[in-house]
Amino acid sequence: MKISYRRTLLFALVYGVAISCFSQDKVTISYVGNMGVLIGNDKQAVLIDGFHKEYGQQYLFPPDSLIKKIISGEYDEFGTIDIAIATHQHKDHFDPVYFHSFLDFNKSSIAILSPQINEILNVEIKKQKVDLHEQIKTPDYDGKVHTFHHEGIEIKAFQCDHVNPARHKSIENTAYVINVKGVSILHVGDTNWDVVEKHLIEHKELLRHLDVAILPYWMLLEEKSIELVERLINPRTIYATHIPPNIEEVQKKGISENFQNVVLFTKIGQAMEIRDIRVR
Ligand SMILES: [Zn+2]
Repeated sequence: MKISYRRTLLFALVYGVAISCFSQDKVTISYVGNMGVLIGNDKQAVLIDGFHKEYGQQYLFPPDSLIKKIISGEYDEFGTIDIAIATHQHKDHFDPVYFHSFLDFNKSSIAILSPQINEILNVEIKKQKVDLHEQIKTPDYDGKVHTFHHEGIEIKAFQCDHVNPARHKSIENTAYVINVKGVSILHVGDTNWDVVEKHLIEHKELLRHLDVAILPYWMLLEEKSIELVERLINPRTIYATHIPPNIEEVQKKGISENFQNVVLFTKIGQAMEIRDIRVR
């Protein structure tokens, strides 16, 4: 009787530890506005395109109070943000003051920004007279894949031209593949199929086995979208972002009809567990 009681206790203990380890491994994706998402859990977290301010009616943005919580590691189930990324310098994706505050408050965290964005951040850093350069990593904008490791998270960055080159040719828009806790997430920033197809073909190996792709909604609306998504990235789940608050219902319906595995991010704080989705 005694032995069986001990065995039960041991089982409960081991099982309990296994469950708690498993729950620590869950990876959540939480919407921060426009193309901004927070990915991770209370142990490891990455923010991409989340540090931005009000820019125009077409763009959802995080309130200042939410940004303060993110910077201080007190937002929802997330802890300290280990890595903050911006895909490009446009103000609906990047704010230098928020980046500066984040790096200043979190000395063991890093930012990953193209050389072009880093120049803008440097102006802010010089103004504040605090040396944060060690914390900033800059993938060159040269068509190659650049890899970074920090706190057990792997980030791969590559050139991913900005949509509408007639107007935005000089903008360095960088795509990122984030690997955290075994989950692989692609974020392409502001691009479209016309300019991105060649880059995705070039990096096809890197884009195998994607769990998640975060895309601007216009990349899901075209007639050719279904074939291109399947052939070039084929993620388990797609998150549609950059959705204007006044998007027409017919467009939302069009996206959902094109893709079974799409989630439309339209509300700040909208969050899902990535592993849950994977099991479905
Ligand atoms: Zn842009």
